Amino acid sequence: MHKVEPKVFLIGETRIVEDGLRGFLNHIGAPEWQSDAPTDVEKVAEFYSRLCYKSYKPGLNPNVKKIREHNAEHLGNILKVKHGSVLEHPVINFVFADVSRVFTHELVRHRVGVAISQESLRYVRLDDLGQWLPTVIREDEEAMTIFGRTFEELERLQKELAVHFRLDDSQANFTRKKIVTSAMRRIAPIGLATNIGWSANPRTLRWVLEMRTAPEAEEEIRLVFGEVGKIVVNRYPNLFGDMVVEIIDGLPSYKSPNSKV
Ligand SMILES: Cc1cc2nc3c(=O)[nH]c(=O)nc-3n(C[C@H](O)[C@H](O)[C@H](O)COP(=O)(O)OP(=O)(O)OC[C@H]3O[C@@H](n4cnc5c(N)ncnc54)[C@H](O)[C@@H]3O)c2cc1C
Repeated sequence: MHKVEPKVFLIGETRIVEDGLRGFLNHIGAPEWQSDAPTDVEKVAEFYSRLCYKSYKPGLNPNVKKIREHNAEHLGNILKVKHGSVLEHPVINFVFADVSRVFTHELVRHRVGVAISQESLRYVRLDDLGQWLPTVIREDEEAMTIFGRTFEELERLQKELAVHFRLDDSQANFTRKKIVTSAMRRIAPIGLATNIGWSANPRTLRWVLEMRTAPEAEEEIRLVFGEVGKIVVNRYPNLFGDMVVEIIDGLPSYKSPNSKV
C-alpha cells in the first residue's frame, strides 16, 4: 500500500491544419483572415463561429458591415449570448492519475461531449493499492488507523488470491489471468488509486468545472477540477477567463456569469 495525491495532466489539444484552413478561406474570398487567438483551441471555436455568419471580414456577407475583430471579444460575445455549440469543436485531453474509483464513478456521470479511457482492473493486478484520503479521515487518528488496516488487509487478500490461483505460474495463460483478476477486483476498495483518460470539449468543460468545484461536490473531485480550472483558465483565457474563482473550504470554486452556454 502507498499514499498518493490525485494529479492532473493536460496531454493534448486540438490543432489547426493551416493548409486546409487557408484553402477554405481562399474558397470563400477571405484569404486575409487571421486570428489573434492565444491557442488553436480558441482559434477553432472562433473559426466555426465566424463560418455561421460569414463574418471573417466586413462585407463578405453584405448583411454584416461590422465584425468583432479579436478572438477575446468574439468568444466573449459567444459566451454572453450562449451560442455554446461552437465551443464543441475543439477537444482538450487530460489524464487524471492516482484518483479513486469514487472519483471516476462520479466523473463518468458527465456523458455529453466527453471521451473516456479507464485503466482496466480486469487486466491490471491490484498488488500495491494506492490510497488518498479525504480530510475528514486524515484529521482523525483512529479513522486513519482503520482505513490503513482495511487497505492493508484488502491488499493482502489480493496477493493471497493471486497465489491461490497461481497467477504467476509460467503456464498461466492470459485469458485465465484476465478472468481471475476481474473476479478478484470485487473485493478491492473503491477508494483505490487508479488512472483515467478524459477528453472534453470546452462547452462541456465549462459545465463540469462549475458542477464539480461547487462546495456541495465531493472533496476529491473538487480537488481535481480545481487543478483543471487553473490549467484551462491560464491556457485558454478567451474560453474560460470569465469564470470567477472563490476559495471555499480551502478549495477553488469556479462560477461563471455565463453559466451553461
Ligand atoms: C453535488 C452532486 C451530487 C450528486 N448526487 C448524485 C446522486 O446522489 N445520485 C446520482 O445518481 N447522481 C448524483 N449526481 C450526478 C448528477 O445527477 C448528474 O448525473 C451528473 O452531475 C451529470 O451531470 P448532467 O446531468 O448535467 O450531465 P452531463 O452529461 O454533464 O450533461 C450536460 C448537460 O447536457 C444536457 N443533457 C445531458 N443528457 C441529456 C439528456 N439525456 N436529455 C436532455 N438533456 C441532456 C443537460 O442539460 C445536462 O446538464 C450528483 C452530482 C453532483 C454535482
